[in-house]
Amino acid sequence: MGTVDTIVAMAYLVAAIAFIAGLHLMNSPATARKGSPISTAGMVVAVAATLAKMANDGNTSTTAWIVLAAGLVVGGGAGLWMAHSVKMTAIPQLVSLFNAVGGGAAAVIAIADFVRLAGVSGTAITPRTAVATALDVIIGGVTFSGSLIAAGKLQGWITGQPVVFRGARVLTGALAAVGVGGSAYLFTGSENIGILMMVVGASLVFGITMVLPIGGADMPVVISLLNAFTGIAVAMAGFVINSAGLIIGGALVGASGTILTILMAEAMNRSIPNIIIGGFGTGDSAVAVGAGATGDIRRLSADDAAIQMSYASKVIIVPGYGLAAAQAQRECRELADVLESRGVDVSYAIHPVAGRMPGHMNVLLAEVNVPYTQLKEMDAVNPEFDSADVALVVGANDVTNPAARRPNTPLSGMPILDVDHAKNIIVIKRSMGHGYAGIDNELYTNPKTGMFFADAKKGLAEITAAAKALVG
Ligand code: NDP
Repeated sequence: MGTVDTIVAMAYLVAAIAFIAGLHLMNSPATARKGSPISTAGMVVAVAATLAKMANDGNTSTTAWIVLAAGLVVGGGAGLWMAHSVKMTAIPQLVSLFNAVGGGAAAVIAIADFVRLAGVSGTAITPRTAVATALDVIIGGVTFSGSLIAAGKLQGWITGQPVVFRGARVLTGALAAVGVGGSAYLFTGSENIGILMMVVGASLVFGITMVLPIGGADMPVVISLLNAFTGIAVAMAGFVINSAGLIIGGALVGASGTILTILMAEAMNRSIPNIIIGGFGTGDSAVAVGAGATGDIRRLSADDAAIQMSYASKVIIVPGYGLAAAQAQRECRELADVLESRGVDVSYAIHPVAGRMPGHMNVLLAEVNVPYTQLKEMDAVNPEFDSADVALVVGANDVTNPAARRPNTPLSGMPILDVDHAKNIIVIKRSMGHGYAGIDNELYTNPKTGMFFADAKKGLAEITAAAKALVG
């Protein structure tokens, strides 16, 4: 090993330590912000080491350097621009797009290397490379198309409801057979590019048929699963081209994504194998739509809401996607401050899939410096609703829907926040509109519930003003 190779190997080690330290800091909202620059520094070191190795190996043409520089400028520039300009509410779609790009790029690396080796006579494709190539194109292909469908669903370009069609299971089985059969053929050392392309095609279609039937409470699990897939595909690409940097980075993303997927699946009562096989869904949405829509609703004014909460001893705020959509986190914090100044015990109930990405509510509330001690996870806060005078639901819907406790609804089996155990319930949203799962919420017709129809930002500001105006 030459001196440069040793330095490069050490640089990859430093990068790996930075990635692990960064991930570790992201364990807690209090330290998460520090984790990001440390991981970024690790990535800069890894890219610099790769470039140094290429320069040292001396087998890179001028054209290759120009292509690399163009890729860095265009890809890096597009990433920077998207990250800066994206609206907070569109981050889940952006994450899905990043997953798609990561998985797709990993698959392209394996395809390019296979085509290169197939074109060089006398260079046999070793079983190790064949296995890594097959796994890379399958996982990368599924991730690419599946993540694009997920992004389309989150953006609303494709319906968020499960899309099921006749023969889906047969198609899924056929695609799996093509993927497994084609891969087995490649393991024999075959250099047949046609077979490789067949496997790529089957994987791309599998990604689409895997994500289309996903809806409601299953979507968060599939998004984190695709994130784990991206990491595994990148690690496989590392094995194909012998890149320690790709193997380390990919393995870390794969491992952390897998842990997140298992946690999300457990929290949601979902089975990961069911998601992959497709035709997934724990219920029949036709049964649930309309359920609970028949009862009367009780409307509240800002003054009513302010009075109820100001004279309460304990208020639990339940934030949901609507809080993010309205960017109402500051107004939420202001109301909490006013209530606390009146001696009310205020806390926030955080459901694992509230919003549109894992940790969405934590990120929003951290932005306005809500003390972490006030943020309570679902299992910790659920027993507390019994003693709460008011549960204030701000733009949350599915995560509070009692339909999840019944069979045969798109939310069946998903644990919910036990908002209906509170003595009084106040819901701020703009209309009787559905949440992501697309079903009615019988919480709204519960006699204990008062509906305050307003945009979350405006509504919270009105309640805060009314609470401030109260005397005594
Ligand atoms: P929901 O999507 O169930 O409901 C959000 C509610 O917010 C809507 O009913 C809407 O009602 C209201 N709303 C929208 N805009 C505003 C606004 N400006 N002001 C006030 N209210 C507003 O959100 P939840 O957080 O309860 O549940 C999350 C859902 O998203 C779950 O089904 C989950 O499975 C899914 N999901 C979660 C992901 C994650 O990782 N967290 C990823 C993908 C999906 P109205 O229009 O009447 O105002």
